[in-house]
Amino acid sequence: MKFSDIYGLENVKERLRRAAESGRVSHAYLFEGIRGVGKMTAAQAFASALVCEHPKGGESCGVCHGCVMCEAGSHPDIRVVKNSLYGIEKKTDILAVETIRAMKKEIYLKPYIADRKIYIIPKADTMVEQAQNSLLKILEEPPAYCVLILLCESSGALLPTVMSRVVKLSLTPLSADDTADCLIEKFGIEQTRATLFARMSGGSVGRAVELSEDEDFLKTRDELANYLLRLVSERGSVAMYDFSKYLKGTKKQSGRIFEILETLLRDMMLICHGKSAEDAANADRVELLTDLCGKITPLISIEFIEILDKYRRFTDQNVNYNMTVQCMVMEWWERTHDRDYRNKI
Ligand SMILES: [Zn+2]
Repeated sequence: MKFSDIYGLENVKERLRRAAESGRVSHAYLFEGIRGVGKMTAAQAFASALVCEHPKGGESCGVCHGCVMCEAGSHPDIRVVKNSLYGIEKKTDILAVETIRAMKKEIYLKPYIADRKIYIIPKADTMVEQAQNSLLKILEEPPAYCVLILLCESSGALLPTVMSRVVKLSLTPLSADDTADCLIEKFGIEQTRATLFARMSGGSVGRAVELSEDEDFLKTRDELANYLLRLVSERGSVAMYDFSKYLKGTKKQSGRIFEILETLLRDMMLICHGKSAEDAANADRVELLTDLCGKITPLISIEFIEILDKYRRFTDQNVNYNMTVQCMVMEWWERTHDRDYRNKI
């Protein structure tokens, strides 16, 4: 992976190129940005520039032995830290304190073939305090050859002591138009689909590519949109029960379900507040979106999103999924149809 292969992220690429070229490389970086924005790709490009045998202008050559190993993911001096890397078995992929301790022991072994040793730490913001404190010991006294690259969606969960020892770089998503251009030019995705997935991904090329490869995504999106339409259209409780029943079967793909619901509800809110349906993320379903918005008020459209956010937090905290989605649908239904509730506000 080379910087020149990455679409967008110009400021970040330039800064990392300059650091690699001048040799003035910090011991620890934090790449912050939404899922799929290119944090891992940028980290890999930087790592390969640092271990390349013939780098030029801060860019890896792509052909030397080091670069070939980087490309194959087998360079011994580039470590992507996961629990499984050190044989630590956990039910979740949240980095365990034992993993950080194992990494700490290993980091003091000198690089095998390159001058530097790079540790890429994905999802650094999911580390519990104990793991972060363990990492802090490394950040306080890193070996001279070591470069740590922490990746996170939001730095809010990181301890101030950790933050004070890293160079933070914010990775900004592309505009929807630039994302679509990238999908067409680099991935050969047809224009209509590229525009659709670019809008749905919020400017994250990685996420847009994932969506385009997910054959069931649009089918699921349409099913959810139809259940929403029934929920806001039918006063009886059958639509509510049917929607709950459908959602109860989606626990394994809960992240995707909440993501799709968010794009639909956000579109509803924007259209209810005057935005053209043609500019919506789900612009290929203008008629359905218009129908949905005809059944609710602008205030309800905002409440729907607040309710979604509330129950999404519950699922993040491992609250019973079936109960969570059932309550969420009930609240949506109440907001739309419960006359007592509407009279109270
Ligand atoms: Zn090279």
